[in-house]
Amino acid sequence: MPFDESLLRIAKGELLTDDWSRTSYSVDASHYEVMPSAILCPADEYDVQLACKYSHDKKISVTARGAGTGLLGQSLSDGVILDFTKNMNRVIEVGENHVVVQPGIVKAVLDLELRKSGKFLPPDPASSNYCTVGGMIADNSSGVHCLGYGNTIDFLDEVKTVYADGTFGHSAKGNCDQKMLQLRELLLSNLSSVENGFPRVSKNSCGYRLDAVVEGGDFNPQRVFAASEGTLGIVTQAQLRILDIPERRSLLVLGFQDLLAALRIVPAILEFSPVALEMMDHTVFAHGSSESSGLGCLLFVEFAGEKAEPERRMESCRRRTTGTCTVLEHASDEQSIARIWGARKGALNNIMKLTVGSRKPIGLIEDTVVRPHELVDHATDLLDTYRDHKMKYVMYGHVGDGNMHTRPLIDISSEEETGLVETIARRIFSRVVANGGTITGEHGDGIARVPFIELMYGKKITEIFASVKKLFDPMFSLNPGKKVPMPVA
Ligand SMILES: Cc1cc2nc3c(=O)[nH]c(=O)nc-3n(C[C@H](O)[C@H](O)[C@H](O)COP(=O)(O)OP(=O)(O)OC[C@H]3O[C@@H](n4cnc5c(N)ncnc54)[C@H](O)[C@@H]3O)c2cc1C
Repeated sequence: MPFDESLLRIAKGELLTDDWSRTSYSVDASHYEVMPSAILCPADEYDVQLACKYSHDKKISVTARGAGTGLLGQSLSDGVILDFTKNMNRVIEVGENHVVVQPGIVKAVLDLELRKSGKFLPPDPASSNYCTVGGMIADNSSGVHCLGYGNTIDFLDEVKTVYADGTFGHSAKGNCDQKMLQLRELLLSNLSSVENGFPRVSKNSCGYRLDAVVEGGDFNPQRVFAASEGTLGIVTQAQLRILDIPERRSLLVLGFQDLLAALRIVPAILEFSPVALEMMDHTVFAHGSSESSGLGCLLFVEFAGEKAEPERRMESCRRRTTGTCTVLEHASDEQSIARIWGARKGALNNIMKLTVGSRKPIGLIEDTVVRPHELVDHATDLLDTYRDHKMKYVMYGHVGDGNMHTRPLIDISSEEETGLVETIARRIFSRVVANGGTITGEHGDGIARVPFIELMYGKKITEIFASVKKLFDPMFSLNPGKKVPMPVA
């Protein structure tokens, strides 16, 4: 049946239905490809409302999209795509401790704006030159500095949304619309399952973050949209907490003989309270840059604070690590610190584009989180697995949070190899979950990890997720198939 665009034509924003545009929006930063029916670039929340009502009436899905840098296919759909980057991309207000934005604002643009007032929004994905705040909320994105400051969910104070049926929503602590009151009832009647059913790690983007909604006896309804991948409501405006840019920073780059030697020292480094503790294995710099340090693994450790405090802590940390590594760089000036982080970011972005013959780094087990003292065992398990299957791989991570990013290089035309990735994932995930970790720290579930959500949370929590989805979107019209599998017809 041809796509009936009549109603959408009355939207104020652009409607794109040509093959070229649809093909452009059929991909994101994952290896999936799904051809959408049309793309609408909403001019305002009324255009979003129109799209949701249209979707409700015509039984065609609506999927929000920021920059399409999601790594697991979360912005791909065969229905109508709402692209927020074109028209709904403004900073509305910068206050003393908060910023109000439209979802399509690019994170790096927001950073520049906040810098003028000496402020920053800490979550900083390596994709920040492209990714949008709407996408960061929906994926609960993190990044290098979340060790010291927290993840997107921790900064999300207020959200304006359009629900699946086209009604407007507005949620914040102490501000509940009708749907949120129902959510509260649902969560209160399952409180002990929710309080005990989530991993005890510092970051988690798997499933819905219901634990954060009821954290500490409070009810923070807006947090249900964090990590929800646009499956519960379309965000049209958000208020986020911002912080003062720290007065001083110091950065240490340490070189280790190999990955395990680097991971062994992580718990000791954490005692000096760094705001960032990153790992980059030789498998990344071998592929990602033309230079080679001759070392097996690097740790980047950043300290922040006032006056001489960061430098003092850096020095203590340096002394503590003496004998285990080589100090490759240490810097306490902004220019050098920016240069070092910039080089790391560049290497990682190159890795995403890496192709070796017909092989590509494939994400599935690329975002696990374990408690930092369990990193050595976890990494040993990963290395043994790669060795047993004679797989090449890349490995890096936010190891201060216990978050490992690793991808095997897979021939995606080989069913045997792609099948093997799933088998490996099931085994690695089971072990991570048994140790109280999560299968996805910051990248979300997308298309790839939905089949593993029950493995992560078990039957009870998965059923609660399905009830939450049913409450917000009973017809499965918002980004269907993500977070909660489509009901069997
Ligand atoms: C090179 C590279 C490096 C990366 N590094 C990091 C990293 O360090 N840390 C990290 O956490 N992630 C990282 N990512 C993952 C990704 O960039 C983040 O998840 C990012 O926040 C996604 O933003 P986006 O604008 O591209 O969203 P998209 O990919 O377009 O969308 C992501 C999800 O958000 C939903 N969405 C978008 N807008 C809205 C809205 N208005 N309302 C409701 N739902 C919405 C979409 O439907 C989709 O489900 C990286 C990706 C790449 C390619």
